[in-house]
Amino acid sequence: MALSLYNTLTRRVEPFTPLLPPRVTIYTCGPTVWQYAHLGNFRTFLFEDLLRRHLEFLGYDVFHIMNLTDVDDRTIKAAAAAGKRLEEHTAPFVQAFFDDRDYLRIQPAHVYPRATEAIPAMVRLVGQLLDKGVAYKGEDGSVYFAIGKFPTYGRLSRLDRRELKVGARVASDEYAKDDPRDFALWKRAEPIDEQVGAAWDAPFGRGRPGWHLECSAMSLDAISRFGVATLDIHAGGIDLIFPHHEDEIAQSEAATGQPFARFWLHGEFLNVRGTKMSKRFGNFLTARDLREQRVDAAAVRLLFWQTHYRQALDFNDEALEGAKEGVKRLGELRARLVERAAVDSARPGVLAELASELLSEFGIALDDDLGAPRAVAALFEFVRAANRELDRGQGGIGTGAAAGAGAALAVFDRVMTVLDVLPTAKALTPEFAAWVEGQLAAREKARRAKDFREADRIRAALRAKGVELEDTPAGTKWRAG
Ligand code: AMP
Ligand code: ZN
Repeated sequence: MALSLYNTLTRRVEPFTPLLPPRVTIYTCGPTVWQYAHLGNFRTFLFEDLLRRHLEFLGYDVFHIMNLTDVDDRTIKAAAAAGKRLEEHTAPFVQAFFDDRDYLRIQPAHVYPRATEAIPAMVRLVGQLLDKGVAYKGEDGSVYFAIGKFPTYGRLSRLDRRELKVGARVASDEYAKDDPRDFALWKRAEPIDEQVGAAWDAPFGRGRPGWHLECSAMSLDAISRFGVATLDIHAGGIDLIFPHHEDEIAQSEAATGQPFARFWLHGEFLNVRGTKMSKRFGNFLTARDLREQRVDAAAVRLLFWQTHYRQALDFNDEALEGAKEGVKRLGELRARLVERAAVDSARPGVLAELASELLSEFGIALDDDLGAPRAVAALFEFVRAANRELDRGQGGIGTGAAAGAGAALAVFDRVMTVLDVLPTAKALTPEFAAWVEGQLAAREKARRAKDFREADRIRAALRAKGVELEDTPAGTKWRAG
């Protein structure tokens, strides 16, 4: 079976094929660095991490772009309120975002273009749109996109004209536009922009980019290295469909004349008691809150995988506790497989068969629009069956029971390259170091007595706890992972 994904553009699950296989270009709208990102934001970034990892699992050569929105209404207001320059205000939040990303084991994107560093590309794009006559300078000095000149406007969000009008009326500056639905590409510099250093010169007037413009310019700029103007996948949270992504399409396609993205993927919200987690509602939790509570990020990941990305997920403590328990069971099973594989690695057997069932079910589940809940169910089915088999093999090797641990371990680790939900290795405490030293002494004794099975068993037991050994002429060295 091949990968299929739900495409917001067509409202259908469709077979996925990239423009130029094996490369897959992905653009994901990144954080607005006016504050710490909350767990809701990270639910979206984690769904994108799953997408990225599954594509790589399938052998695609992924090029992932995530922007940093470091200039927009919110960042400017926040910097002004703090009495700081824009850069000075956003820098710590950029760093915090990267720290949180690493804590949550999200694979880094290949590039992180920053809006403030991509102003020339944005100015060029506005220039192109003006030249083509799809943009105009408003009476207020800002530059607007003329929706009436782009016939397919509204295709992604499928809002009818009346709804579009109502939506746009909420925005300010209506008087300055030819049509109230038009949106700003470039906003004329206001005193507050100058105050924080968020204004740039441009042929069409000093100002700053609109948020939608930033993403169009940065994504097109990033994929120009491949000589294309079409992304394979563009993703974000569901609240970005309108107007953000609709406007990105209008700007990009009006400028290039080519489809902007082949697939549009949108993740559902993380809620708290039925309400979207957001800064505005004050019902948010950050990744650093969880880290301070010493929550293993593996549990957060597992919790998120248990709900499909297109379904709303309610965050609560009981669910998190359940996920912590699941992570522990996964860690324990892996330790058992490692131990068994060390003494009985080569033989085929039941464990290998169970693992091959897991691998096939896992692939089928994720190929079906990233069906992580089903993939996780298959994983825990494997945990139960493998534990049963290992219990049966407790009596020793040679009975035929619990054979195939080496192959099973390889599959288990392969599945983890996508889900990444094993417990974080324990921090090195003095007690732990003393225990390791004790095990090393026992191993040395076994080796002297030529009891190599016992020596190997100890090595495996250490490895299961994340300790790797290296035998050198100067003695055995160890390192905790
Ligand atoms: P922002 O930093 O506000 O630009 O948002 C970054 C990303 O987080 C966007 O893709 C949003 O759609 C997404 N997002 C915001 N709130 C939530 C939430 N409660 N659940 C899931 N995604 C969210
Ligand atoms: Zn965007």
